[in-house]
This record gives sequence, C-alpha cells and structure tokens, in this order.
Amino acid sequence: MIRPEDIQVAVLMGGLGTRLGTYTKQCPKPLVDVCGKPFFHYQLTLMAGQGFRKFLFLLGYKADMIEDYFGDGSAYGVSVRYCYDGKELLGTGGAIRRALPYLEDDFLLLYGDSFMDIDFSESLHRYEEGKRHGAKALMTVLYNHNQYDKSNVIMREGRLVLYDKEHPVSEMNAIDYGACIYEKSVFETFEENVKFDVSKVQNLLTQKEEMVPHVVTRRFYEIGSPESLKEFTEYVRYRFYEPHPAVFLDRDGVVNEIVFNEDTEQLDSPLCVEEFRFLPKAVEALHILQEKGYYIFIVTNQPAAAKGKTTLCRLYDVNTHMIRLLQEKGIFIEEVEMCPHTDKEPIRTKYRELAVKCSCRKPGTGLFENIERKYKIDKENSYMAGDSFTDIAAGRKFGVKTVFIGNYKCDVCAKLEYNKPDFIFGDLYSFTDSL
Ligand SMILES: [Mg+2]
Repeated sequence: MIRPEDIQVAVLMGGLGTRLGTYTKQCPKPLVDVCGKPFFHYQLTLMAGQGFRKFLFLLGYKADMIEDYFGDGSAYGVSVRYCYDGKELLGTGGAIRRALPYLEDDFLLLYGDSFMDIDFSESLHRYEEGKRHGAKALMTVLYNHNQYDKSNVIMREGRLVLYDKEHPVSEMNAIDYGACIYEKSVFETFEENVKFDVSKVQNLLTQKEEMVPHVVTRRFYEIGSPESLKEFTEYVRYRFYEPHPAVFLDRDGVVNEIVFNEDTEQLDSPLCVEEFRFLPKAVEALHILQEKGYYIFIVTNQPAAAKGKTTLCRLYDVNTHMIRLLQEKGIFIEEVEMCPHTDKEPIRTKYRELAVKCSCRKPGTGLFENIERKYKIDKENSYMAGDSFTDIAAGRKFGVKTVFIGNYKCDVCAKLEYNKPDFIFGDLYSFTDSL
C-alpha cells in the first residue's frame, strides 16, 4: 500500500498569474496573501497533516521569493526541493518533462494556485489498484454539472472514458479536479525543451484507457482572478480562523441502516453501494443540523475490507455515494473520516497492513483529531452522536458532549457505566430536533 510519506508531491508553481493583476506584480501566486499567510501555506499544511513529506516545487516566475519563504520545508515538517524553469516557457507538461531527473517513479501532481482538500489516501489506493490493471495514472474528477468550469471529462459507470479540454461534447459530465498521480515513464516519451500542456498527456492517457478516476465530492478553490481570491479568503476565514460548532456522527445505525449479511448471518455495515439505505428521517435530521449552522462530520469504523469481507474501494464508494445523495438534496457533509483498520487478526484478507493497532479506530480519537487539524471547532458546543459505547467513549475522550442514539438497552448500559452519555435519543432526528 502506498502511504502518503512514500510518494513525492510535485507542485507546479511557475505561472505568471497575469489575471490577478496587481496582486501578482510583487509576488507569485502561491505567495498571494490570504488572511495573513501565503496562499500555498494552506495546501501545504493540509498535505503535511495527511502525512505527505516529500515535495518538489517547480518554479518559474519570482522563483527566489517562493524558495525564500518555504525554504527546506522544515517549518512544515516536510522536505521541499526545487526545480527551475529555463528561459523559455515550456507549459505545464514541458515543466514536468524538464523536472524528470528530480522526479521519482510515481508522483502526485498539484497546482500551486489551487486549494484541493480531499482524502489523498483514497487517491493513492485507487492509483495502486489501477496500476494492477495496467493504468499509468489517476485523475481526481468532480461531477460538476458545468459548475465552476466547463465539464471536460466523460465518466460512464464509474469509469473515466475521456478527458478532452479542447473538444467539449455534451456527454461530458465531470471535470478534472486538479490533482493527478502519474507514473514518471508517461512523461519520458515526450521530447525535452518542447512546449506542451499536461492536458495533452491526460487526453492521451484516457484514450489508451490508462488513467483511472478518483471521484471527489468537494469543490476546489483557485485564485485565478480577484473574485476567486476574495471567495477563497472568506472561506479560509470561516474555516481556519472562526470557531464553529460541529456534530460528529457515527454512520451505521445512526445515518444509514445496518444490513443483514446473508454470508455471515450477522448484522453488518453496508459492504457496497447497493446495500446503503438511509434510516427514516435521517436526511431530515442532517438538514436540520445544516440549517442550525453545525459542521457535519462523520467518523466511522469500517473494518470489513481489513477482514476480507469486501474491498477498500467499495468502502470508499459507499461514502462517496452517501455524500453525493445528500448533495443532491442540498446537504453538505464536511468530512467523512473512516478508520479502515481491524485490531483482530483477519482470517482472509488482501490488506494485511490494515490489521494493525491504530489510533483512529473508535474509541480512539484519531478520526476526530484528523478533523480538528483541519477546522476551527467550537468544542464546547459540539456533539458526538452514535449508537455504540465506543462512540460515546470516543466523544468523551475527545471532549465534546455525547449523545446515545437508539435503544438504550441494558447490555449497552453495563458497558457505559463509567461512560454515561450526556443525552439519549431514540433516533438522530429527535436529537437534532432538540437542539
Ligand atoms: Mg454504529
């Protein structure tokens, strides 16, 4: 399994930023001020928090200023190396071709003027799975319905069929989100010192069916114009500087139904998209939380792949499916944090590395801490709601009010004796209605 610390992150930072006018006269786009910090500070902090350690910045315009600011990366707990454009502007593809001697066999590519907050571990996992079937690259895609920018990707039944920025067709239903992972060999076939755009590489890869998708569900921010810079600045202020209350939710048995698994004859989590059903009034409950100004976070233990019952991609799919169903109803789940580990020795599994003692599996608080690193949360007015004693124990340890959802039966009471929830409700709706 590729871990974030194993993979190199290359960031294209050479652009002139001409559309930003006066903002970029003095400084390059990655350094444009957003709430007192350079724009790229926020992306780098996010990546460092997810465990990425090796960065290569591809520089051009005002390269020395960027290098002066980020230095060797140690202020962020990462290592940053630099590669410089020559005299001629080579375009995004040409800049990567020129940087080949500094690039590792596989690398994640980002843009220095985009803020992309996604679960990159999922990207890495899907890339690795794709490579097993002959793919050489991964593209993050967003079903955008022509919002944000014109659609340029055809997705069909979960497969990436075509990327073409130059020739839009009506079947295009998604957009290139901005983060991609490549096998370095892909760029070796291009001539050096020739100007080309990375979109040409993406187009060729999709035509050869060598690019797999990672469907993401959150919009991106970029700072291509004064308007988009203003929009991102407001977003950053809300998210990173002003505290807001949150409701952390367990998923199975709180938001969606638990499923009877015919193989094991036990109640289980949904193991694939087809098994996912919302509980009665759960959607209404989530709507209320949103209306009342709470962040909605989901923190869920999903050990089924680690135990060999399903694949990790299917587990990711279930979460994506849930988020997209809710988005269609205008409800935005801010984060779904999933612990894929098991603390038991699995009998059959292809993911040995997931059978580990981790800090994220509830009642551990790792999932909560991942979220806390990325948001400013008003913990005093926040809640954890779940249907298991592990949810209550985790919420208490993390320091938010706890809500037991469901039948407060005696077997649960015994386990909760030293961990009594602050509130008990029959279902999520009754809890949200009481807020
Ligand atoms: Mg549960």
